[in-house]
Amino acid sequence: MHHVSITANKTEFDFVDAITRISVFLDSLYKNPDDIPLVASKHDLVVQSCPPEVGRPTDYLLNELFQKFEHNFCNVFSSSYFGYISPRPHPLGVIGDFLAAGVNQTPGAWRAGPAATKIELEVLGWFRQLFGLPTPDGDFPGGIFTGGGTIANLIALKLARDAADSDAQDHGITKKYRIYCSQDSHFSIDKSVDFLGIGKRNLVKIAVDSRGVINLDELKAAIELDVQNGCQPMAIIGTVGTTAIAVIEPLEEMASLAKEFQCWFHVDAAAGLSYAACDEIRKSMKGIELADSITFDPCKWMFMSFGVGCLLVKDGKKLFDSCSAGGGYWENKEELDLFQQNLYGTRQFRSLGIWMLLRGLGFSGYRKLLVNILECAALFRSLIKEDNRFLLMESNSELPVICIRARRLGIEQQLVDICQNRNICYPTLLKWKNEDHIRFAFSNYEIDQKKVKKIYQEICEVYDSII
Ligand SMILES: *Cc1c(COP(=O)(O)O)cnc(C)c1O
Repeated sequence: MHHVSITANKTEFDFVDAITRISVFLDSLYKNPDDIPLVASKHDLVVQSCPPEVGRPTDYLLNELFQKFEHNFCNVFSSSYFGYISPRPHPLGVIGDFLAAGVNQTPGAWRAGPAATKIELEVLGWFRQLFGLPTPDGDFPGGIFTGGGTIANLIALKLARDAADSDAQDHGITKKYRIYCSQDSHFSIDKSVDFLGIGKRNLVKIAVDSRGVINLDELKAAIELDVQNGCQPMAIIGTVGTTAIAVIEPLEEMASLAKEFQCWFHVDAAAGLSYAACDEIRKSMKGIELADSITFDPCKWMFMSFGVGCLLVKDGKKLFDSCSAGGGYWENKEELDLFQQNLYGTRQFRSLGIWMLLRGLGFSGYRKLLVNILECAALFRSLIKEDNRFLLMESNSELPVICIRARRLGIEQQLVDICQNRNICYPTLLKWKNEDHIRFAFSNYEIDQKKVKKIYQEICEVYDSII
């Protein structure tokens, strides 16, 4: 065996060379995203069967990895990719994430990351300005970063639990609590009520109509019935950008019900909050400023790489009361330790990438990216609307997610498969109210009108070839 152990001999490892190779690889994805298929997954991918007892040179590893990606890749870099809400990561965010990993500062504790802690607070402040949210009550930052929307929702519901039951932290839940959301809420809510020991049966899901609008009368009636039966409402959850069809729920009305029944009002705006940066759409989110807590995922329409979420709360002290903890191994120096306000202890410094992105683009530059996506989605919507081959779902959404059906019903799956396999575009099949739809989530900030027209024409050709 002739190999060089890079860790055993430091001089063999050239950091700059390795990073250069990685940046050249990523640069080609950014510049020529359509050189590779929209999705490639070879199930016969070779997985090394023997443990890596002996080290290998970095070049060797990179060759192996680039090859693995080449044959097994979901091409979010392409503007023909419309899957879920998985954006092309913005290079500024990627650079920030890289620097953050390199300096290894954690915003979890002041002395382990003083600048990181400061930057995180700065970014939280920017979010409130960008999205038109009020400053939090009291002296606490009023927000935390998490590993995604799921954990943000989990922590939000923990705050709701502790607000409803001051004994729960010490003794667990003693009453029968109920939580309310629409049928179209995200599955992380179901997971959260389970993880918190509230029980999925105590999550009451209210019907939505054919445009995705929650039935508020039914919501109120459900709460009243529960109260009569001796249950206590713990939280009402409104969604901004429902996962299937991106509806913005009537937050003002939901907030006033939460007030009437004295329970927590949480807004799961994981996907949609980004669009609060655009005044026109912010109007449809009226009432969000009344929320006790708001979930936000910068890894959606803020173009960060996966795995960063955020929870903004009205009263930051609640986070502290719900999450503070200590141990003899951590000398208390009365510093700002954000682990005292979060489920996480140490954690990645993901706000650095967001800092890079927002500071680099400016709010105005960021808004331009959002508006371009909106305009491209609007063009696609109008092309579909005028074409009698397709039925446009008239959802109550202004966000750039477009769901369509074929007039000749039943060929949606076939259309999706052909579009994906021929590399035309990558929409997903959506089952909504027991019917098949083709869902296009516009989340690539590089898309342009020409590309939209081309994709539309190619979809029409596929349609005609099926008939
Ligand atoms: C994406 C999303 C989530 C879950 O976020 P993760 O980052 O996948 O944990 C929750 N709620 C809504 C509305 C979402 O769009």
